[in-house]
Amino acid sequence: TNVNLLDFCKNIIEKLHILHSDKHIKITVKGDYSSVYIYQNMLKPILDNLLDNALKYSSENSVVNLRISCSQQKITFKIKDQGIGISKSDQQKLFQPFYRGVNVGTIPGTGLGLSIVQTLVELYKGNISVVSKLDLGTTVTLVIPSIQPMDLDTS
Ligand code: ATP
Ligand code: MG
Repeated sequence: TNVNLLDFCKNIIEKLHILHSDKHIKITVKGDYSSVYIYQNMLKPILDNLLDNALKYSSENSVVNLRISCSQQKITFKIKDQGIGISKSDQQKLFQPFYRGVNVGTIPGTGLGLSIVQTLVELYKGNISVVSKLDLGTTVTLVIPSIQPMDLDTS
């Protein structure tokens, strides 16, 4: 469907913000706010999981940035946090079902979020990559192909 990306993202962020409101994290959203065609049913759970992680693994009063850029071919989302980070060895295993980083401590989770994300990103024919430094923060980059309206099955 055709949506305004900013509204779409803000809607997701608003709910997560309430969920993590005790941490007083500042979330900024920047980029191209144009209307685009996306597969909402796939993109929503992807961004939901990635932003949930960004907030969950961040400390109080920190900042999470979401940057969106659109081109004819693709839409890029960059989610940057100042959280606990992910060690080099954990970075290899993040997308495995039930895998959790060694540094999660008492932060709750099942380790399933990113494995679901990976499956959905593959279905979307997109790409996801993680750059992280332990104790400093994590940047997740998600790239999905732009959909042309004529690609959509309207039947
Ligand atoms: P769930 O999402 O199922 O509630 P989870 O968050 O532990 O649980 P994933 O989302 O799959 O599971 O993430 C796997 C692991 O990757 C996490 O346990 C954590 O160690 C690490 N991780 C993911 N995102 C971040 C992040 N933004 N900062 C630090 N560590 C992260
Ligand atoms: Mg998670």
